[in-house]
Amino acid sequence: MHDAVSILNHIFGYPEFRGQQQEIVEQVAHGGHALVLMPTGGGKSLCYQIPALLRDGVAIVVSPLIALMQDQVATLQELGVAAACLNSATSQDEARDISRQARAGTLDLLYVAPERLLTPRFQEFIASLKIALFAIDEAHCVSHWGHDFRPEYQQLGMLAEQFPHVPRIALTATADEQTRLDIIHYLKLSEARVFLSSFDRPNLFYQVVEKHNAKKQLLDFIRQEHQGATGIVYCLSRKRVEDTAQWLRENGIEALAYHAGMSHAEREANQRLFLREDGIVMVATVAFGMGIDKPDVRFVAHIDMPKSPENFYQESGRAGRDGLPSASWLCYGLNDVVQLRQMIEGGEMAELQKQVELSKLDAMLAFCETAGCRRQHILAHFGEASKPCGHCDNCLHPPITYDATEPVRKLLSCIYRVGQRFPTGHVIDVLLGRQNPSIGHHRHDQLSTYGIGKDMNQRWWRSIVRQLVARQLVQVDIARGQSLVLTDACRPLLKGEQSIYLRPLADEKKSRGSGGAD
Ligand code: ADP
Ligand code: ZN
Repeated sequence: MHDAVSILNHIFGYPEFRGQQQEIVEQVAHGGHALVLMPTGGGKSLCYQIPALLRDGVAIVVSPLIALMQDQVATLQELGVAAACLNSATSQDEARDISRQARAGTLDLLYVAPERLLTPRFQEFIASLKIALFAIDEAHCVSHWGHDFRPEYQQLGMLAEQFPHVPRIALTATADEQTRLDIIHYLKLSEARVFLSSFDRPNLFYQVVEKHNAKKQLLDFIRQEHQGATGIVYCLSRKRVEDTAQWLRENGIEALAYHAGMSHAEREANQRLFLREDGIVMVATVAFGMGIDKPDVRFVAHIDMPKSPENFYQESGRAGRDGLPSASWLCYGLNDVVQLRQMIEGGEMAELQKQVELSKLDAMLAFCETAGCRRQHILAHFGEASKPCGHCDNCLHPPITYDATEPVRKLLSCIYRVGQRFPTGHVIDVLLGRQNPSIGHHRHDQLSTYGIGKDMNQRWWRSIVRQLVARQLVQVDIARGQSLVLTDACRPLLKGEQSIYLRPLADEKKSRGSGGAD
């Protein structure tokens, strides 16, 4: 009879367990339930794969993504493990063959999509089998709070009633409190042992910059710090992916593109090249990366702001899986926030879901705007207390803040004077005393706030606006042409009862008073 360690050594080829893997394996192998919260790349798969081999019968693994399943099954088969998957791409013949193996007891792991698992036909089928365990991967899909809600996941709780004696293990890399509670609730895991790993990635160094010319900033970052290195660049839109990949290639960087609008064959080819060769920069939408396991990715760059801290953490976590120093670089601007808000508010989600997404967006912006340690900030988001890391941009170069009370008051009163009905660009033009047709038309050159902000340039003003938005002193009203609107929180400032400290622009000397190219 094999034990866990010998399976780890001889089948998977690893000398020892990592982190809490062994405890988790033992818990499930002995028939207990488990909830595993472990960051991406932490090694969740072994936590159910080894118990699957230790226990009699077939392990049923629920996984939301076909590509992910196929990867895992292929890897297992290469190791000589009897694994298969059933999904919409499986032919009838294959499916029949798989059922036969399962009945004969020669299959160790069977991966299925949740929809499939829930069909009466599949339920009937597995009721006749000896089942080793149920593993529910990407368990955050059960929660509205997760970044990838799938309604089918909520029905998986019925496994607890149908198969009360079969151990269940739920796994996810999303650890916030709310998601955790939802997983326990919907998957009926109140008796499960919870294994919470640290989300710290000590070899990842975070860096956040304000956007003025994202593509150029990206190129400088790659040239200065990662020339010739393998990296991933995340963009918000397909068009942006194409533009950026082309721009990098024109500038001598070996870059490929990946987004859902490309043909399947093209995507596959680019992904294969990226995995096989060294020094390729993959420019992609978030469609790229689930299940991609390339250990030596040296940097992950976001040239647009991700929509939530969870997305950011997952995506940037694809760097440095080999444990060597790696960079997470993020370039963000107020327009990103506005665009993301628009996508959320204009989307087809339920109202509650929109509120959730908006609050995640605010949390993301707060990460960008923090003057404290980035790592500490992101870990705190996942409920983990830590000390300043000493390696992120803010730790290395603590941002100086300045007393911005006076310019902020000017800005707030200007927003008020234009009736809270104009977007950032217009308000700043008024502050700078510029002329444009809209200013002329609305006679905003007659306002008392016209030209009172000439001592600062446009970039300064934009930075101030962004920081006020991050602090919820000002809102961008998307329904009304992205007008800047004051919130109640800014009243004490306007009344002169409060002062406020903000971060200056990173390259203060260059831009202050230089006329403000944006
Ligand atoms: P997750 O699902 O948590 O993102 P995976 O299960 O895909 O992580 O594992 C990430 C990588 O770590 C894989 O390449 C896996 O083979 C490797 N790995 C997992 N456990 C160990 C271990 N005990 N020793 C060495 N490598 C491991
Ligand atoms: Zn730090």
